[in-house]
Amino acid sequence: AKAEGRNRYQFYSQDMAERSNQRLHLEQGLRRAIDGGQLTLHFQPQVTLPDRQIVGVEALVRWQHPELGMIPPARFIPIAEESGVIDALGRWVLEHACLEMAGLKDGLGGQLHLAVNVSAREFMRSDFIDALRETLARTGFPAAALELEITESTLQTIDRSLEILGELKKLGIAVSIDDFGTGYSSLSVLRNLPIDRIKIDRSFIHDLQHNPDGAAIVKAMVALAESLRMDIIVEGIETAEQAVILTRMGCAGGQGYLFSRPIPVADLIKLLATPDGD
Ligand code: C2E
Ligand code: CA
Ligand code: CA
Ligand code: CA
Repeated sequence: AKAEGRNRYQFYSQDMAERSNQRLHLEQGLRRAIDGGQLTLHFQPQVTLPDRQIVGVEALVRWQHPELGMIPPARFIPIAEESGVIDALGRWVLEHACLEMAGLKDGLGGQLHLAVNVSAREFMRSDFIDALRETLARTGFPAAALELEITESTLQTIDRSLEILGELKKLGIAVSIDDFGTGYSSLSVLRNLPIDRIKIDRSFIHDLQHNPDGAAIVKAMVALAESLRMDIIVEGIETAEQAVILTRMGCAGGQGYLFSRPIPVADLIKLLATPDGD
């Protein structure tokens, strides 16, 4: 049993060494990727329900690695966060998202609304607001059309969060809670913080038709958002049936493969130019 234990230990430590090697490799690669033109942005439309007008987009980063091919953000964002590379990556995303979207109009000729994901570490940085202000000035993107998506865990330090949210509000930048319902934050956090919008996580949506509990939770979240006067958007809508159910529940905003996958800006421009057939 002793020998077996030793082998197992060796097995684990080899495995761990390999994984930390891989992480290091990705981390170094990511630093190069930012300056080396390997990152791109895709934009996923956000639409009104039930009429499916495109009112905004969410920017989602893509990494085309020269040897490993396309690496999904779920794989490299956590590494970027732990290593601190997220600071440079976040600045790159914001700058390029604003530049690419600066000229795009919504159906009524206004600036199309842009949502950008921001990690807790970026959000809490003391120079975050200044950097944001500079980026907006440099790119000419209007603050009023920008929205930052943060998760519940980002708001753990209430005092600091209040301070930053206050600054953002002064600038006219909106804030939404991403993946809402998956975190552990108490609802009082929402009541005490100036949040504009909640994004209901797609885990509540995928079996909406067959899961009365999931449906009840979504209904409760819609009622909550309403009473707190926050907008709501549902992510991960894949079927027309889900869209119908969600519309009936009073959800006015949606995002998901049913409407469009995340796409390059050139495809977005085509999509915006296409009459929607109804
Ligand atoms: P997220 O912010 O929750 O983004 C939504 C994810 O769901 C995206 O995955 C999107 O492609 C996917 N999605 C959209 N509609 C559907 C649908 O109908 N069905 C299904 N199954 N999936 C759908 P993606 O692009 O792989 O991004 C994964 C996560 O990586 C994001 O989750 C976000 O947390 C993070 N991420 C992506 N870009 C950035 C970024 O620029 N900065 C930061 N900090 N995080 C980012
Ligand atoms: Ca998001
Ligand atoms: Ca989300
Ligand atoms: Ca998510």
